[in-house]
Amino acid sequence: MKEFDYIIIGGGCAGLSLAYELEIHEKLKDKTLAIIEPREEYKKDKTWSFWKVMAHNFDDCVKKSWVNFSVNIPKKTNHLECISYPYQSVDSGLFYEKINSRLKENKNISFFKDLREINSKNSFIFNSVPSIKKDHRNLWQHFCGVEIESQNNFFDDEIFNLMDFDCEQRESVHFFYTLPYSKTKALVETTWLSKINDGSQKDYDIQIKDYIENHLKLKNYKITYKEEGTIPLFYPSNEIEKNKINIGTAGGMTRLSTGYTFLNIQEHSKYICENIKNISKSKKFEISKKYQFLDYIFLKVLNRNPEMMPNIFFKMFKSSPNTVIKFLSNKSNFLEDLSIILKMPKWTFIKALFR
Ligand SMILES: Cc1cc2nc3c(=O)[nH]c(=O)nc-3n(C[C@H](O)[C@H](O)[C@H](O)COP(=O)(O)OP(=O)(O)OC[C@H]3O[C@@H](n4cnc5c(N)ncnc54)[C@H](O)[C@@H]3O)c2cc1C
Repeated sequence: MKEFDYIIIGGGCAGLSLAYELEIHEKLKDKTLAIIEPREEYKKDKTWSFWKVMAHNFDDCVKKSWVNFSVNIPKKTNHLECISYPYQSVDSGLFYEKINSRLKENKNISFFKDLREINSKNSFIFNSVPSIKKDHRNLWQHFCGVEIESQNNFFDDEIFNLMDFDCEQRESVHFFYTLPYSKTKALVETTWLSKINDGSQKDYDIQIKDYIENHLKLKNYKITYKEEGTIPLFYPSNEIEKNKINIGTAGGMTRLSTGYTFLNIQEHSKYICENIKNISKSKKFEISKKYQFLDYIFLKVLNRNPEMMPNIFFKMFKSSPNTVIKFLSNKSNFLEDLSIILKMPKWTFIKALFR
């Protein structure tokens, strides 16, 4: 069986981002790479959105970017600006197409459906398949989004809605998220943060229909695309092994308080690429311990007091938008962290810390 210098298990966001980073920096000129990906065909299956706090390779896959956004709780709306850090939405279809067409040009890169098709004994492995152990205490972000097209101009495409908590909560944390791509097209998503991941909140189609028709008050529209998924708000239990690095969600690249992962994956890919010659001896790349600790407390509060979360998120955005964006994107300094922490209900967080 054929051997390779490197193997990437999982050709999704993290696997392909890493392969692309290595390819464009010419690290695969004299090295071989196998990508293991079981899917039959690549098609758009996700929309990755984030505040652009750093440069990345996929500006040409951005469907739309915004410099204004809003956050809502019942009867209150906060309008915010993000001129320094525009919010971008990457179309996964364009991303897969761009990367795969580039990788196919390099004869040193091969694609397989199953790891058992090759000899992996002497390879360095980058694994993006998470190992998830069932635990009823774990929190999940689960959601469903639809792209809709209205018959007439309806949306204000200059501003997106990050969180609208003016909806049923069912003892979890629930909000809607709306990205208007144009005056007639938008992604509308229902998002739940909850320990429940058994399908009992999965009346997604009804929730979305009700939100579009009775909340946004749009009647004439059609659904053109649908995406659905779950993001674990806990670290997967992938083992650390010699000659193997976990990447993507499996490698702890998801920010647990938000689910944002895309830019962390890009940063991790750059780090691996810069250190590829000595990768087995390089320091582990991880989201800073500061955010891991703050997110741990935040999720404890969320677990115990889901009813408080709409107000907590709303208050967080009372800080300057740049501060909140940097905090949520792992780029804040000590004073910025402090300004967010001081907006939180202190006793609730102190109690969560000690219990
Ligand atoms: C619908 C959705 C929307 C999201 N939106 C955002 C967002 O807006 N912003 C953001 O920052 N993050 C977002 N995320 C979170 C995160 O960015 C994505 O989950 C991202 O795809 C994670 O990349 P990954 O490579 O870890 O996992 P994936 O992209 O899921 O890649 C894993 C790959 O492994 C393959 N695979 C599975 N089993 C095997 C196996 N046994 N052997 C080999 N390969 C296998 C899969 O087919 C897949 O291609 C979203 C997640 C989902 C589910």
